[in-house]
This record gives sequence, C-alpha cells and structure tokens, in this order.
Amino acid sequence: MNNTEFDKQHIWHPYTSAVHPLPCYEVVAASGTRLTLSSGESIVDGMSSWWSTIHGYNHPKLNEAAHCQIEKFSHVMFGGLTHEPAVQLCKRLLEIVPDGLNRVFLADSGSVSVEVAIKMAIQYWACQGRPEKSKLVTPRNGYHGDTFAAMSVCDPINGMHSLFKKSLIEHHFAPAPQTRFENTWSPDDIAPMRDIFEKHAEQLAALVLEPIVQGAGGMRIYHPEYLKQCRQLCDEFDVLLICDEIATGFGRTGKLFACEHAQITPDILCLGKALTGGYMTLAATLCTEQVALGVCEGEPGVFMHGPTFMGNPLACAVANASIDLLLSKPWQTDVLNIETQLKNELSELKTNDKVADVRILGAIGVVEMKMHVNVAEIQKVFIKHGAWIRPFSKNIYIMPPFISSPQDISALCEAIKQGVACC
Ligand SMILES: *Cc1c(COP(=O)(O)O)cnc(C)c1O
Repeated sequence: MNNTEFDKQHIWHPYTSAVHPLPCYEVVAASGTRLTLSSGESIVDGMSSWWSTIHGYNHPKLNEAAHCQIEKFSHVMFGGLTHEPAVQLCKRLLEIVPDGLNRVFLADSGSVSVEVAIKMAIQYWACQGRPEKSKLVTPRNGYHGDTFAAMSVCDPINGMHSLFKKSLIEHHFAPAPQTRFENTWSPDDIAPMRDIFEKHAEQLAALVLEPIVQGAGGMRIYHPEYLKQCRQLCDEFDVLLICDEIATGFGRTGKLFACEHAQITPDILCLGKALTGGYMTLAATLCTEQVALGVCEGEPGVFMHGPTFMGNPLACAVANASIDLLLSKPWQTDVLNIETQLKNELSELKTNDKVADVRILGAIGVVEMKMHVNVAEIQKVFIKHGAWIRPFSKNIYIMPPFISSPQDISALCEAIKQGVACC
C-alpha cells in the first residue's frame, strides 16, 4: 500500500470525512515558497500552511535555531523551571505587542491560547467578587479554534454549533461588522453591539474578536473604527477585550498586529500560527498587569492552567529566530508589495458573474464566489496551474509567504482565475 492509499484508509485530516475523504497530496520536500509533491510536481504555496510560514519553508536561519537548541535540550517542564529561549521570547513579545500588555502565558496551540484567554477573563471577574460576569459576547462570522470554549465563540452557523448544542455554553452573538475596511465608517455598525452591552454587561466577562480580519469564519475585512468602538464599549461597561491575533499577528495585515490599525490595546491578546514562522506549534496569551493581578487576587490565588509542553524550548528558540528575521527585513514593504500586486491582478474578478466579492488587505487576497466551491475539483485545476490553494465554502483565498516573488504571486493569481473559470 503506498502512502496516499494508507492515508486514505486510516488517517483523519482537518475538517474531512474519514469515509469519503477529499483527495490528499503527498509532500516530499518544501523549500522557500515551493512544495514538491510525490508526483514530482513543484507548486507555489498560496496558504503559508494556514497563515504560519511567513518566511517560507526550510529557512536556513530557522533551521539553525532549531539545530542549535536541540543540541542543548529539546524540552524541560515549565513547572518550576525556566530557560533562555522562553525568557528571550517573552521579552521580545512584550517589546513588539501593543503597549500595556505585560504578562505572557505560553500555550501549545492557538485554540488552547483562546481557552486560556477565556479562563483568565472568567477567573478575573470571579476574583473581583463578580462571578456572575461569566458570559462572552462576540461578532458573528468569527473563528477562534476547535476546542469547546473556543468553539462556543465561533460563528454559530458555520461553526456547526447545532451538533454540539448540549455541550456548548451559550454566549451572545452580535451581527458581524458590516463597514468595509476601505469604506467610510457607518456609525450604525456598532449599534447592535452597544445594545448587547446595555442589556447584558452585568453578565459579560469579555468581548472576544479577531481584530480587522475575520479569518476561517468568512474571510471578512472590517473597518478599524469598529474595533476602536468595541474597545470603548468594553471600557464604558467594565468588560474585558480579548483580541485573537492568531491569524493576523506578525505582519499579515500590513501592521505587525492588526490592533494597530485602530491603535488599541486589548486586555488579553492571543498569538499563534506565525509565531514560530510555521515550524512547529506554539501560542501565547498575553494580558495586562491589571488582569494578571486581578486573576491572582484572593482564592485560589493562582491561574489554573499548565500544559505539559508549556514554553517548549525548541519552539521558543525557533520563534525567537522567526521574530528576529521578520524585524530584520523590510517586511512592511514586502507585505505592501504583495497587497499592491494582489489588487492589480485580482480586482478584475469583481466583475465576473460567478464572483460575489474580492477583498484584499496586506498579504491576504480573498475571492468570494456566489456558490460553494467544489474543493476537490478546483484543487485539480490549481495544481495543474502550479499552485497550492485550499478554498473553504465560497471563499478562494490566499495568504502567501512574505518572501513570495512577483512571479509567485502572479502564478497564484493566474491559478485563481483558471479555477474561477472552471467553477
Ligand atoms: C487558527 C486559528 C485559531 C486556532 O489555532 P490552532 O493552532 O489551530 O488551535 C484560533 N483563532 C484564530 C483567529 C485562528 O485563525
């Protein structure tokens, strides 16, 4: 049995049937912006392996950091022990995240960092003597991960809440923000969120959202004023703001963190995905001094979370190298150049009969179709045209590595056009 055959019969893949799986392609090498398949084809990566490989694959600097650390030690428990890679990483993160964040909890995946953020918010209010503040509010079309608390703030429809109704805590959902990033702010846009705050603030622990770009819940890009007003609502009504920058962090939207578009600081910030340059899993939940002190007041006096692989040294070492590499480069220019090229090459699709919308911000390009996309069929077209792109529902989207050349971006845009033509 060859690898793809064994895989088909025995291995689960993300969001895929085990019985009627989508076709799966075997990668035998990955370098720079290219993936080499076992068929011998070399294709241009349009996905950065889900927002993470911002520097491309097999990068000498990240490889060196991993080798160097593995020669010292790969892992030690974080309970009662610390080490240089974690200290360096947390120092660097506090230097680059929005002002006011002061404490770092290292988690082992994005979803876990969201669980940690939610637990922090709830424990914070419980320790302030306000245990009734335990509900969350979130805009529709969000995505925050696949574990239970994270899933409870994902969009209730495309997050498939109905399947888990009895096991999910019910929170408050506001309509998704409507004003587009580039349009004039419409003050009505915040009204439904204000309404929820006015009715329910006494029970609200936190507002959870993805700043500026809603990723896997719909690939929507919204106006910074919405985020600014969410911050103001949280201040006015005594509710914590949790910003999930797991997808948007580390330059993807043209700012190092998407919160900077609105010049706000959340009370709690989640980071993941590009944190290690896509080398391995690592995430972080950061909070203000006020939240940290609040959580640790009274009983039990500690924060009740501690993953086995918390602060994994190998992952921290690679994260340090990835952040150094990013900051040593003209990354803003690189991202802006990708944005300009995506606008030049994808905008023509706006007038295509099958296309509902085209949205571009930073190194993110989205072509929303009017109908659901047949992933298996369209991927054959993409691969024939030398591109790795994985659409979901109506969205064909790319977020290529920042090192992508103009030729790489053109190849991706051309593949999208060919795919759209075949829909
Ligand atoms: C991917 C993602 C998560 C979940 O991260 P995992 O590492 O897959 O658990 C959470 N929030 C956002 C915004 C994401 O894009």
